Amino acid sequence: MTITKNVINRINAMISDEPPESGGIIGEGELEIISEVIFDVRQAVTPSYCFYSPNVEFLNSKIEVWQRENILFRGLFHTHFGNTRSLSVADKKYIIEIMNNMPECIQYLYFPIFVLPDREFVVYKAEKNNNGLITIVQDGLTIV
Ligand SMILES: [Zn+2]
Repeated sequence: MTITKNVINRINAMISDEPPESGGIIGEGELEIISEVIFDVRQAVTPSYCFYSPNVEFLNSKIEVWQRENILFRGLFHTHFGNTRSLSVADKKYIIEIMNNMPECIQYLYFPIFVLPDREFVVYKAEKNNNGLITIVQDGLTIV
């Protein structure tokens, strides 16, 4: 995944070191570079510790705005505390659900974890092959 320094800085400024987990959507302006981010709004019901449940309605409305601005939805990031770098079972389930609900033109999405307290991105890439099979693999990170 290639991401701008600006987006990294914005995420660093926005995400606190304290639970609950949070996250948001990332978007691609051009040249397969992540150059946009929108932070999820806190939900009325605070999710339990170590579980990020996206506010789907809010994020979908933002994805629609992006479409009009020619920004491509490229995935979701969320935080993990205690230096947990791997995807949880719930994370994987959610990723597969999102991938199965994407239009045909979206062949891959990124699901980076913003690992705290180290403030380091661990990137996962979900890809749908021609048979509709979804694979999730770790991806590198390039900051431009
Ligand atoms: Zn997670």
